[in-house]
Amino acid sequence: MHELSLIQSLLTIIEEHAKQHGFNKVNQINLSCGRLSSVEPQALDFAFKALTPSGICAGARLDLTILPMKIHCFACNQEYESKGTNPTTCPHCRGDQVMVTSGWQELQLLELDVD
Ligand SMILES: [Zn+2]
Repeated sequence: MHELSLIQSLLTIIEEHAKQHGFNKVNQINLSCGRLSSVEPQALDFAFKALTPSGICAGARLDLTILPMKIHCFACNQEYESKGTNPTTCPHCRGDQVMVTSGWQELQLLELDVD
């Protein structure tokens, strides 16, 4: 499972932060990833729980923000966002000459709530 290695590297980053900033309990972890990345929120939660039976992250809450897909329309040259995973027709001109320009962002650590 791809999520296990994502969580593993996340935990390594958090442990580094803990050493630098001297905290020993993490309450919440805010993450983001693109709609089109291969991150599966439920699998991420599962991997996180499996890998943190104890330690500074045990019991912490994962908060994952899914960034919307951005799409460029060639007909009217505008950009729009879509919450789905398929580019729809352009909401501005109803054209279908569109290209996805963003949405593949990998998992990113945004913020930690610590004690
Ligand atoms: Zn358009």
